Amino acid sequence: MSPQRLSHVPPSFLRTLPQGLLELDIADRIYLDPDTTTRFSTDFGRLTRAPPSAVLYPSSPDDIAALVRFSYFSPHPFPVAARGCGHSIRGQALAPGGVVVDMPSLGRGRDDRRINVSGGDGSSFWYVDAGGEQLWIDVLHETLKHGFAPRSWTDYLHLTVGGTLSNAGVSGQAFRHGPQISNVYELEVVTGKGEMMRCSHNENPALFYGVLGGLGQLGIITRARIAVEPAPERVRWARLIYTDFVSFTRDQELLISMSEEGFDYVEGSLLMMDHSLIGNWRSSFFSDRDWEKVKLLASQFGAIYCLEGAVYYEMATASSVDQKLDSFLKLLSFVPGFDFANDVSYMGFLDRVHTGELKLRSMGLWDVPHPWLNIFVPKSRIRDFEIGVFKGILKPNNSMGPVLIYPLKKNKWDEKMSAVIPDEEIFYSIGLLRSAIMGDWEHLDDQNDEILRFCHREGIEYKQYLPHYTAQTDWMKHFGLKWNAFVELKRRYDPKLLLSPGQRIFTSSLIEHVSEQGIPFLKLY
Ligand code: FAD
Repeated sequence: MSPQRLSHVPPSFLRTLPQGLLELDIADRIYLDPDTTTRFSTDFGRLTRAPPSAVLYPSSPDDIAALVRFSYFSPHPFPVAARGCGHSIRGQALAPGGVVVDMPSLGRGRDDRRINVSGGDGSSFWYVDAGGEQLWIDVLHETLKHGFAPRSWTDYLHLTVGGTLSNAGVSGQAFRHGPQISNVYELEVVTGKGEMMRCSHNENPALFYGVLGGLGQLGIITRARIAVEPAPERVRWARLIYTDFVSFTRDQELLISMSEEGFDYVEGSLLMMDHSLIGNWRSSFFSDRDWEKVKLLASQFGAIYCLEGAVYYEMATASSVDQKLDSFLKLLSFVPGFDFANDVSYMGFLDRVHTGELKLRSMGLWDVPHPWLNIFVPKSRIRDFEIGVFKGILKPNNSMGPVLIYPLKKNKWDEKMSAVIPDEEIFYSIGLLRSAIMGDWEHLDDQNDEILRFCHREGIEYKQYLPHYTAQTDWMKHFGLKWNAFVELKRRYDPKLLLSPGQRIFTSSLIEHVSEQGIPFLKLY
């Protein structure tokens, strides 16, 4: 069935939405046929399902402002969730009984793509203005045309600017440049009152800091001004294998302590002799021969660790890059003979996960449940975490996907922003990015719960990244000292609790209330 425009649908179909919506100028961009609402009722996690009443395909930020304003002033306000690509795991971009805003529509069919690189004219200050709906891969393509690129990335670039800035945006460059939210100069947002506001360090700073890492609670990002740097041409990309966790993390910490002359990217992962090793989307790095060698080592030790680093360079300095890499490798304690390197373009390096995605898609292994767990663990407890989790709770199983482990630095995060991290100078980003390929996601999810219980029991002061809680007391604990200020900002910018209800920070009571009336609500399959 093709999408039906709102004006073609009897008002009774509007269910929770006030009928005045039919009279707005944006009515022909609102769809509520079951095909459309079903498509917007779940996300990449495939663990949660809750259809909205309608979907807005905005043609401009004004359309979004008109929708939110209408809800705000309505006697029966309804929730509104911006949806980037729906790459969330736990329904964070859903709007049960409300309206989902399909952000990619903002850029659809436009020549300018809403990505503009500026600077020059004698100024050394370059930046890119990107629509909140834009994919990072498109931002990269556009900035490269000018010889520039953003400094801080996520591993996967088919995520939206607004989606990652609402969380933090972390990858192997964050130890040097901070998360993506630390690399933003200015934002344009639609608040929960339907106002369009510009904000930056100097203009409406409370909103600016609040929105960055603010889980979509204070405003819908329609444009972000992002820092760029001259883009390198090539990348020498290395993987080093360790059988000993202490040496692995010591070397990672050494690498992130180095100046600008050191590695430009540092990550790492756990390799276990199970499906996660065989079907890991990051395994395309190795030649078949090297991969056999790594698997053999993993089978001997059960679990091994892979440090991943990259050195950026220009063609003009190509002759010295081997020397540079060798000088770093001499400082490190990986298993002799287990250092591997590839030479790739900058684009090829940054877009590496997409290659894995295409492979998994072709095998029907992409659209499966993803019970992911992302947490930040303080450095002082990472060894306890390794013993309790990597050597204890995690057992070889029928899942697939990487388990990431890499250190980040607190001083690269701005305390004023909403994102929360552990209170320690160095903390580890742990990502259990497992796909339930045999349909047994509950088992993996139980393991995630067990990991969190273990951390509580052992007093490990972790913070969830891409957090998921259903009780407000857990959210209060998550935000810690930032909670009161966050609530104050919510009162100021979204007093009717309209935005991103799928995060379930302020709206669990609203969702329960709605569900009593027989309207779909967040629930597990
Ligand atoms: P959505 O899932 O659509 O939205 C996420 C939240 O933000 C929702 O609450 C939504 O309402 C809100 N939102 C969406 N757009 C806006 C906007 N314009 N303004 C305000 N709020 C908005 N994250 C990392 O940090 N590092 C990684 O390396 C990384 N790798 C990933 C790899 C894969 C394969 C996947 C699927 C995800 C990865 N992520 C990573 C997680 C990613 O950052 C989150 O999924 C994030 O939510 C972005 O996805 P999205 O753009 O689809 O946003």
